[in-house]
Amino acid sequence: MKKTTIPGLLLLLALTHAQANAQHDHDHEHGHDHDHPHPKVELSGRHLSQAGQHFEFRLLPDNRAVVIPLNEKKEALAPGNQEVQLTGGDRSAPVRIAFEKTDVHWISMEALPDVQNMPVVLRVTHAGDRPLFFRFQLDRRICGECGKMEYACSCDHHH
Ligand SMILES: [Zn+2]
Repeated sequence: MKKTTIPGLLLLLALTHAQANAQHDHDHEHGHDHDHPHPKVELSGRHLSQAGQHFEFRLLPDNRAVVIPLNEKKEALAPGNQEVQLTGGDRSAPVRIAFEKTDVHWISMEALPDVQNMPVVLRVTHAGDRPLFFRFQLDRRICGECGKMEYACSCDHHH
């Protein structure tokens, strides 16, 4: 029975995909890179991936930070039951900041230290799973190429 239903489903998916692509081509010139679909929301922060889970970390103008869960297409999801916490600054005097969940993201409960460049560890804990740790430099200097802050920059010269 499975052998008859699954090809039908795949055909349906293929047709749906073809229709989506046809619509897509209508809006864009050829030569567009289809391997990197457009996100539905403006993602301007740092993309974090680990163990099949994806997040965007973004600093707000008031120095608070938000974490947005993403699917594998980099589209925003509603936050789940994870706990999010950030540790930053000197190892001798680290700052720990908890995040609270809203309908659309987790947001830090206080502003991050106003430091131009500091190491941070973002911890995402989900009951029953191993916690995820994302370590990166929260560098607020502006990249001359893309105009983003360095922590969110993905220009080649950083790699
Ligand atoms: Zn850049």
